[in-house]
Amino acid sequence: MELDDTIVAIATPAGRGGIGVVRLSGPAAAAIAGAMLRLRRPLEAGRAVFGELVEPRTGERLDEVVATYFAAPHSYTTEDVVEISAHGSPVVLRRMVELALEGGARLATPGEFTLRAFLRGRIDLAQAEAVRDLIEAQTLFQAKTAALQLEGALSRRVQPIKQRLIELIAVLEAGVDFAEDDVAVLPDARILDAIAQLRPPLEQLEASFAFGNLVHEGMTLAIVGRPNVGKSSLFNRLVESDRAIVTSTPGTTRDLVTETVAIEGIPVRLVDTAGLRQTADEAESIGVRKSREALAEADVALLVLDASAPGRKEKASEGANDDDSHLLESLGSRRAIVVMNKSDLNPQASFQPRGNSNGAPMVRASALTGEGMDALRREILRAAHADAAGREPGFLTNQRQHSLVQDSLRALAAANSAVAARVPHEMLLLDLYAALRALDFITGATSSDDILDLIFSRFCIGK
Ligand code: GDP
Repeated sequence: MELDDTIVAIATPAGRGGIGVVRLSGPAAAAIAGAMLRLRRPLEAGRAVFGELVEPRTGERLDEVVATYFAAPHSYTTEDVVEISAHGSPVVLRRMVELALEGGARLATPGEFTLRAFLRGRIDLAQAEAVRDLIEAQTLFQAKTAALQLEGALSRRVQPIKQRLIELIAVLEAGVDFAEDDVAVLPDARILDAIAQLRPPLEQLEASFAFGNLVHEGMTLAIVGRPNVGKSSLFNRLVESDRAIVTSTPGTTRDLVTETVAIEGIPVRLVDTAGLRQTADEAESIGVRKSREALAEADVALLVLDASAPGRKEKASEGANDDDSHLLESLGSRRAIVVMNKSDLNPQASFQPRGNSNGAPMVRASALTGEGMDALRREILRAAHADAAGREPGFLTNQRQHSLVQDSLRALAAANSAVAARVPHEMLLLDLYAALRALDFITGATSSDDILDLIFSRFCIGK
């Protein structure tokens, strides 16, 4: 990986805009920028300078620009960085890049500015991922989550766990390397204890992925129920009030109506199904099959009932309840919410499912008046485990981080068995290093110097 050249790229999105920015990073950034700009004042660190972009050979003026110079190490990449803002004309921006290339810069590869920030140690891997997440965020809550991670929330949570692990490794290394220097070897019980103490924070971190993944990937909610109970009306209510996310990733639609909304910042993909029930009718049975498929992919099902249906006015006559009970049963162990819709027509309506209700909560709501919609949203978040009280900052947001924490836990389990099997500490250390390396891949490498420093500072070996 080349690090000592100067890279250039258009930093703003493709297309026309009020402003377009070209970014240069590397030792020659200021010189290359200077050669194509006629500035009011020389470039000065931390200041924006007004000027013109000119064709170096003819002196022709191409655009008015503002150039900002960030001198190393106080820049995004820690290198010298110059950002040139021009009007957002693609031809002008492209010409500016060409001039930079002629001046000796190299075209940056995708993400290379952030890669440099990482390779130069300004940010760790979790932070680099956060930059991507921040840019790709579809809801403000996702953006805030990414901003926290960018600021180091996850790394701060991992760091103390790593620190304890490093301390344990250092003690054991000292025992192995300096056995003659009468360094007390740690008794097995103490090693087991140290390993045991590492597990709970790591397990909590692992569990945080459920919420982090939800924030990141969102959830799918299938709206099911008999025809005419008000599924489409509820769907529309949620879409209108919770503002559809326009940039949602397209999924397989199969003619089902889908729309993604943000409920308290969690992307929720709503799927309106055609009405689940046994039917002989050909056309409708296709619809039924589709809704079953939709249901199979859903994280949570919203079972809609009609409060005005016959049998709900008085205490349950069987008719309506039987069908609905059957539907609820067909959801099996899936997380479900029962919505008693059209509550405006019958506020007292109740539903006593036959058999096992699988613990689904019931919400009375009216798609017509909007009553009960807040309670419904709360139940949706709760069903997705998104209301978890203990949302500690710094949760795992992607599968990569999640697998690494699992790897670390597995390695600790192996270390635990190794102590129990009384294998030599050299072997035990291999497991502990594996546990440490996995965490290193989340935040950043632990060097052998970190461990040696600890050994020497803590144990005063050789003085
Ligand atoms: P779907 O077949 O389950 O999608 O049901 P629709 O959403 O098409 O609604 C069926 C009928 O019930 C329509 O005439 C709606 O206007 C009506 N409806 C839906 N929700 C409500 C509600 O909360 N209150 C009342 N009074 N009518 C409703």
